[in-house]
Amino acid sequence: MKVHVKSKDEVIVISGKDKGSTGKVLAVNPKSGRVTVEGIAMVTKHQKSRAQGQPGGIIHKEAAIDASNVMLICQKCGKASRVGINIVDGKKIRTCKKCSQQID
Ligand SMILES: [Zn+2]
Repeated sequence: MKVHVKSKDEVIVISGKDKGSTGKVLAVNPKSGRVTVEGIAMVTKHQKSRAQGQPGGIIHKEAAIDASNVMLICQKCGKASRVGINIVDGKKIRTCKKCSQQID
């Protein structure tokens, strides 16, 4: 599964209930093609108490969303952009399709 974003990228959500929200990629799962984005797709989980004397509680946590639901925000031009891949000296370089700047 090809994921066009990676950890620490700024992305914008382009579909779902968080559409239009931006955040930083916390984790990428290439196997499932899903990403976790800071503050996006928050879910509430009831946590059982793990240790004696430690109360269980409710925690808020980001759920993974499909990578196709986010677009990278280019740090150079500040626009949500598709990502191009160029091969330079055998290395993959990500580029912004809007401003053609190298992203990494
Ligand atoms: Zn750009």
